[in-house]
Amino acid sequence: MLERECFSGCGHSRLVLNMVNQTSVVIAGAGPAGLAAAITAAKNGRHVTVHERHSDVGYRFHGDFQGLENWTSTEDILEQMSAIGIEPEFEVAPFKELVCYNHMGQEHICQSSQPIFYLVRRGNAPGTLDSELKEQALAAGVEIIFNSSCRELPEGGIVAQGPHRADVIAIGYVFRTDMADAAFVALSDQLAPQGYAYLLVHKGLGTVASCMFTDFHNERIYLDRTVGFFQKKAGLAIHNERRFGGSGNFSIPPSAHKKNILHVGESAGFQDAFAGFGLRYAILSGHLAAESLLDNSPESYEVAWRKHFLGLMKSSVVNRYLYGMSGNSGYARFIIGIANSKDALVWIRRRYKYKFWKSIIYPFASRRFGKRLRGMCIEPGCNCTWCRCQHEVLK
Ligand SMILES: Cc1cc2nc3c(=O)[nH]c(=O)nc-3n(C[C@H](O)[C@H](O)[C@H](O)COP(=O)(O)OP(=O)(O)OC[C@H]3O[C@@H](n4cnc5c(N)ncnc54)[C@H](O)[C@@H]3O)c2cc1C
Repeated sequence: MLERECFSGCGHSRLVLNMVNQTSVVIAGAGPAGLAAAITAAKNGRHVTVHERHSDVGYRFHGDFQGLENWTSTEDILEQMSAIGIEPEFEVAPFKELVCYNHMGQEHICQSSQPIFYLVRRGNAPGTLDSELKEQALAAGVEIIFNSSCRELPEGGIVAQGPHRADVIAIGYVFRTDMADAAFVALSDQLAPQGYAYLLVHKGLGTVASCMFTDFHNERIYLDRTVGFFQKKAGLAIHNERRFGGSGNFSIPPSAHKKNILHVGESAGFQDAFAGFGLRYAILSGHLAAESLLDNSPESYEVAWRKHFLGLMKSSVVNRYLYGMSGNSGYARFIIGIANSKDALVWIRRRYKYKFWKSIIYPFASRRFGKRLRGMCIEPGCNCTWCRCQHEVLK
């Protein structure tokens, strides 16, 4: 018998007694979603095999800084990770202050008593989120097969292959610098259309990028402007820079499982449509999917992800719709709202509540995204990428 503490999100923990089931769990993709699933399943007695198509984890990242956000739940993300069996032993830095600029370059300081986000590094270098998740998975007994592209899961399993198309892109530089630690954000269509430009500095390393939700063809122009802007406003000093870039997708799938195949992380479309923060969704959805397999109940995954993410994701779709329409002057009001609030984190959290008025706007907002909001194809064995899929998404 195995005693297992379940992540329920309802304020108390649920103890489940399970017969140890030695059935194998197969996972496609060793990103945060796949590895979180692997750690949960392996720690609960399953034999877990993860197929990763690249030669190591974190292949699509380059040492760039990302934020583990703290605003989609009142529970601190690091505590939440510990509660599901992932120790935050990777390099992590809490940020309670954000320096925000509007399109006119006016500066506002946004502060919180709690970390607004935790800075983490991505890639395969020691200390990154990805390499630490890999170490914890290996320590739990997970077998990771690298250079193994997994196209089908005939016996069922978890699909954690990351994004399949680009709804948002971020391009920038990772670099060395002598700047002091700080986080800067600029909201301006001239720097990052309908998105945000950011500069993150920690312990002599930096990441500067433009994260845009439209007009991808002019990415180079936006990046050049972003660098110029932060040089002027924040004293950006770049040494030994390397280019990086990547994309993300978001959708609200009608279903994230088909029979015994469960989709997690960005593979399922789980992502914050407003700001493109997908890490928390990836880690938690991986954990929830593994839990449902442990309970021999893939259907319960459907209930679990809806309970945890559906309201948040619908809210983020409405936020994106309103934000996208508001233009530079709307972004400027957004910054003033955060900066004038008593606590920036509390202010942002409120924007993610799926309130009644948002449910009225949601049908209009979702229509703007069209079919793509209905999600990725989850046909077993489907290997189409970049939105060329001809399969119907599940009703
Ligand atoms: C530039 C950039 C900046 C970002 N910044 C932030 C941020 O600050 N905060 C935040 O929360 N989110 C951020 N995101 C989003 C975040 O990185 C993703 O949401 C998160 O990595 C999704 O995790 P995942 O495990 O679902 O997918 P991934 O991290 O993409 O992992 C998927 C893995 O599956 C592997 N794979 C793919 N296909 C196969 C196959 N057929 N067989 C085997 N393996 C396969 C891939 O090689 C990869 O290792 C950012 C994204 C980008 C691109």
